Amino acid sequence: MEALVWKDTGVETERSLQPPANNDREVLIRVRAAGVCTTDIHMIQGKLNFAKPPWILGHEMAGVVERTGAEVAGWKAGDAVVVDPVVSCGNCTYCQQGKKHLCSRGGELGTTCGQGGYGQYVVVPPSNLYRLPAGMSFVEGAMMEPLNCTMGAVDRVPRMAGAHAVVFGPGPAGLLFAQLAKVYGASTVTMVGMDNERLELGKRLGADLVVNIRSPEERKRLDDMRFDVAIEASGSPDAVRDCFALAASGGTVVLYGLSGLDRPSIVSDQVVGKDLTVVTCISAPHLWEQGIRLTASGRINVKDMVTHPVPFDDAQGVLNDILKGRFRGTKAVILHNKA
Ligand SMILES: [Zn+2]
Ligand SMILES: [Zn+2]
Repeated sequence: MEALVWKDTGVETERSLQPPANNDREVLIRVRAAGVCTTDIHMIQGKLNFAKPPWILGHEMAGVVERTGAEVAGWKAGDAVVVDPVVSCGNCTYCQQGKKHLCSRGGELGTTCGQGGYGQYVVVPPSNLYRLPAGMSFVEGAMMEPLNCTMGAVDRVPRMAGAHAVVFGPGPAGLLFAQLAKVYGASTVTMVGMDNERLELGKRLGADLVVNIRSPEERKRLDDMRFDVAIEASGSPDAVRDCFALAASGGTVVLYGLSGLDRPSIVSDQVVGKDLTVVTCISAPHLWEQGIRLTASGRINVKDMVTHPVPFDDAQGVLNDILKGRFRGTKAVILHNKA
């Protein structure tokens, strides 16, 4: 099988690896689309210590059932699927509480546990599969994982209905947050960033106001505003600080981005003094189906966020561009060859 493999020397294209084998209770998936996530990039750069090379990354996947184990019911070869990458033991306290992403014996395919979608085949339990609706592309299917995580965070906001919301970071997560805030009933969404092209996309996807904080006038205008819900999706410690400062008393701050810096960025007195609620999310097992339906119905647009659907043969080059900071798109999704 073909795969992009993260090695000590960098990311390398391989074309004749042995596909993984599924057991009687597992399904072999032929991955058709795999999203490139900032988490993957940070892992390669050594900023996140989830796994060591050699490793096949990629936790955002959609594909086709290639083969089912003898004990698997409900799925057959050829079924188009979205893959939930979080695998778990099914028996521990966390799993029993519906929080399988916290399972100490589990992990995430491509990130902490098992090989991911940068390779052409992955093995998963059938409980990790969702049907890709007719009319939804594999590229959109691969976007269901970042949608799931961001949706889980918005779902925890006590009251989005009628809120003035702000989103820091017009990257893939921020663009999903802007749309989700609207779906959950926000009255206005302000999007904050430093890249005009990405902010423009934010506007097209539903942000009411965009603010480029590189502009001193726009920065000043932002500082005079207050928000019921402030969402941090950039990973910048400065944006974390801004979120707490711009949150209205009694408001909610959503922390989503990772900075990779091991130092405090929250003033706890501000949280207590303003009576703020702080929420986050790394996976929402109970919301996969809902996210897929929101996309299928057109309420969430993931298609326009994927500026770079990348054929596998070009994937190594694009990944290197991202690693070197030369990538000018919003989201890259690797397209595997069909056979
Ligand atoms: Zn991701
Ligand atoms: Zn468990």
